[in-house]
Amino acid sequence: MLRSAILMASENRLLRRAMERSRAGRIVTRRFVAGNTLQEAVDAVQTLQTQRMLSSLDNLGESVSNNEEAAAATDAYLESVGAIAHSRLPASVSLKLTQLGLDLSTELCRQNLMRIVRQATPAGIRVEVDMEASPYVERTLDLVEEAHRAGGLVRAVIQAYLHRSEADIHRLNRAEIPVRLCKGAYKEGPGVAIVQKPDVDANFQRLASVLLREGVQAAIASHDEAMIQSALQVVSAHNIPPTQFEFQMLYGIGRHLQQRLAQQGYAVRIYIPYGQAWYPYLMRRMAERPANLLFIARNLLR
Ligand SMILES: Cc1cc2nc3c(=O)[nH]c(=O)nc-3n(C[C@H](O)[C@H](O)[C@H](O)COP(=O)(O)OP(=O)(O)OC[C@H]3O[C@@H](n4cnc5c(N)ncnc54)[C@H](O)[C@@H]3O)c2cc1C
Repeated sequence: MLRSAILMASENRLLRRAMERSRAGRIVTRRFVAGNTLQEAVDAVQTLQTQRMLSSLDNLGESVSNNEEAAAATDAYLESVGAIAHSRLPASVSLKLTQLGLDLSTELCRQNLMRIVRQATPAGIRVEVDMEASPYVERTLDLVEEAHRAGGLVRAVIQAYLHRSEADIHRLNRAEIPVRLCKGAYKEGPGVAIVQKPDVDANFQRLASVLLREGVQAAIASHDEAMIQSALQVVSAHNIPPTQFEFQMLYGIGRHLQQRLAQQGYAVRIYIPYGQAWYPYLMRRMAERPANLLFIARNLLR
């Protein structure tokens, strides 16, 4: 109930504008967002690097409303790819196709995505294409497949809560496209998604097993100890080398778990959001754990 209300608020454009412009808003994002600038995100990558962790840079933004905004988002990604290559950072980039214009035109989005992939691939930088709400899934997978066929270093994302996800994992495994498996963060109905959390968790464990055994460069994206332990059991039962998979977690969430896994020698990649368009991202983090609202309220009252 509360989760749905928070996710609905995340789509409110007026609230979004007011929050993103407010000083208080900037203060409360600090735990989950590395900063407003690329330099602050690079600093975060370098700090994590000293703790033997990898990163993925997310220049925040989604659902742009015109071609200029889509071009600006593309340029921002080209800049982050340039910074990663220049400083030889252990980082990929993560982007959303609605940020590159998917709502405006698939062709425009394809061109923007390919510009980024063409610059990133020769530098060995992977482009991870986040998965958004269910109406975007098919077009997103099509574009990831196209970029992969063109020789691009890409990664697709699969959400364990969607009924279609098992078939999608097999499709991506067949094409040898690396996949990030997450539970799913959007408001979806029972027609397309599993609604009970224990059932989502069970499906995550099942899909993680398929991905680890049959996929390439599997990425297990969760802060849930039970998901991680179950993945590690599959790894041990099938002698999967640590070079063939990684754990992924969000900046500022599950920090002890991140450090523990890295210290144990597993590859751990931290998804680092930065930039000014942080409101929808923050609201999804609130919806996952409404207790975060207390953290926000305390900071606002300070
Ligand atoms: C690297 C990465 C990339 C992602 N990419 C996508 C994507 O492309 N598309 C998409 O739909 N979703 C994405 N997600 C979000 C994902 O779908 C989940 O909504 C999110 O990870 C919470 O699920 P969980 O697996 O951590 O398990 P949960 O059962 O939700 O949480 C397990 C535990 O983790 C901690 N935790 C989880 N979330 C929070 C939080 N917000 N604040 C504080 N503590 C928390 C709590 O201790 C909680 O008990 C991504 C997640 C990660 C880690």
